[in-house]
Amino acid sequence: MAFADIFADLDQAHLRMAMYSSTSLDVEGALQQPAGKLSALMALLSPAAEPYIEQMAQQAMALTQQRFGHNIGLFIPLYLSNLCANECDYCGFTMSNKIKRKVLNVEEIATEIQIIKQRQFDSVLLVSGEHETKVGIQYFKQVVPQVKQHFSHLAMEVQPLEISEYAQLKGLGLDSVMLYQETYQARTYAQHHTRGKKRDFTYRLNSPDRLGQAGIDKIGLGVLLGLDDWRLDALMMGHHLHYLENTYWRSKYSVSLPRLRPCVGGIQPKSPMTDLGLVQVICAFRLFSEQLEISLSTRESAQLRDNLLPLGITHMSAGSSTQPGGYAAATAELDQFEISDQRSVELIANMIANKGYQAIFKDWESGWR
Ligand code: SF4
Repeated sequence: MAFADIFADLDQAHLRMAMYSSTSLDVEGALQQPAGKLSALMALLSPAAEPYIEQMAQQAMALTQQRFGHNIGLFIPLYLSNLCANECDYCGFTMSNKIKRKVLNVEEIATEIQIIKQRQFDSVLLVSGEHETKVGIQYFKQVVPQVKQHFSHLAMEVQPLEISEYAQLKGLGLDSVMLYQETYQARTYAQHHTRGKKRDFTYRLNSPDRLGQAGIDKIGLGVLLGLDDWRLDALMMGHHLHYLENTYWRSKYSVSLPRLRPCVGGIQPKSPMTDLGLVQVICAFRLFSEQLEISLSTRESAQLRDNLLPLGITHMSAGSSTQPGGYAAATAELDQFEISDQRSVELIANMIANKGYQAIFKDWESGWR
């Protein structure tokens, strides 16, 4: 049994209709007892919840402070490669884009690490395009120990791997894996993923199961909001999260809520999400899952990130570059997507302090679990 089996039995057309038919009574009921209830999540994501966003925000803020305190974990991505064997029409790394390709070698990774450490980070997210021959398990087996020596928390956002491969990387120091489904609408998924292994919707859908089976400490889910109906995609991600939390209960979970951003040769969002929509989704997930980590990337503007911070966010990236080798020598043409919040880590840490929160650079030691 894996999530794809559960997913096959979900009638998305029916769920969508039920969500869009939610009433204010449904939303008021959901606000009374939202934790762990998929019916409540549906109501809170529905258009009927829009007049209740202020109340949702108040409840979400109180819950987040109760569970996480006034703390915001900061992390930084380290892009290892922009090589990719997939065609995803929303991404600057897509195979057909005529951009300069690069895979960092040991020396280049060491240089990036040195710069990142000078900026005080102790939590790093390794990112690469999906290219299993040149940036596959053998490469990761070299890179993970090299990077782990310098950071307490090591996360990865790369192509889906097999259980045994995740287990090997865990043994070498991997703590977390972020793996985004992009959209839970199979037809839309097929339209946007036209070449490469990523076309296999079901393999990707079952990847978090493999992470849970490999005992990865933290599993991150995400959808690219804007590819399809964001309310339905968020609800499906809620179903996925609910299944995983109940099946692989030893792991922690996080969600990322990236909105589709412009990139080289990329597309415009089919279902654009407003700032208010983003607030609604963040609050709905916080009310649904108290212990869920929610991270917000530098795709969002500085002003919006500042305003969203108290509502349920637990982690933020800061000072990010989305290109391999981008901390040592930035080259715009290598970017995966445009960064909106371009502030330095010092400025972001100051903003966090000015809001009465604490920027946390280290909150993890592998031996603690
Ligand atoms: S989204 Fe990922 S898999 Fe798709 S082109 Fe970009 S890097 Fe490659």
